[in-house]
Amino acid sequence: MRIVMLGAPGSGKGTQATLLVERLGIPHISTGVLLRSAAQEGTELGLKAKAIMDRGNLVSDDLILGLLKDRLTEENASGGFILDGYPRNLAQAKSLDEVLDQLGQPVDEAILLDGDTETIIRRIAKRAKEEGRSDDSEDIVRNRMKVYREQTAPVAEYYAERGLLTCVLGEGSIEEVQQRILSAFEIYHPATETPG
Ligand code: AMP
Repeated sequence: MRIVMLGAPGSGKGTQATLLVERLGIPHISTGVLLRSAAQEGTELGLKAKAIMDRGNLVSDDLILGLLKDRLTEENASGGFILDGYPRNLAQAKSLDEVLDQLGQPVDEAILLDGDTETIIRRIAKRAKEEGRSDDSEDIVRNRMKVYREQTAPVAEYYAERGLLTCVLGEGSIEEVQQRILSAFEIYHPATETPG
C-alpha cells in the first residue's frame, strides 16, 4: 500500500506515520528526515538544504525529487511506503505521479490530518524543547505555516479530485488519531476486512 500523509507542520503526520508503519509493515519515508540526515552528514546537498530549511522555506523541487527517487527505488520500498513531507506543492504531486507511474506503483491513499492552529503551535513548542529542531522557533514556524497555506494546502485538493483523499481530525491523543486513521482505512477498503 502506498500512502501519502498530508498536514500542516506540527499536525502530527510524522508521529502517525511512525505508528502506521509498525502496523502495516511498510517503510516510513520522510523527506524532512532525509534532508536532516544529509545536512548532518555535511554533504554539499545537505548543507545547501539546511540553509533553506532553517528559514522555513521549501528546498528546490529538483533537489528533493533526486533524493526521493533514490529512496523510492530502494528494495524495501517496492512493497509500499508511507510518504511524509512530500508532495509539498502541486509540481511535486505531479512529479510523484510520474515517478510512481514509471514504477507501476501509483498512490493508493492520501491522508490529510486536520487540526486547529493553536493545537499545532502547542505541539511545535513541545517538539522544539524535546528535539531541538533548528526550524521550530516561533518566527520560522510562522513562515512554515504560510508556506503550507500557500503551496501545500492545494495538494489535498489534487488528491481529492482523484478520489484518493481521506480527511482525519488530528486532535486528541496520539492513539485516538491513529484509531481514526485505521477506521478510515476500513471504510475505504471493505474488501480487505476479514469476514465474520
Ligand atoms: P518536515 O520535517 O517535513 O517538517 O520538513 C522540514 C523542512 O524540510 C521543510 O520546512 C522544508 O524546508 C524541507 N522539506 C521537507 N520536505 C520537503 C519537500 N517535499 N519539498 C521541499 N522542501 C522540503
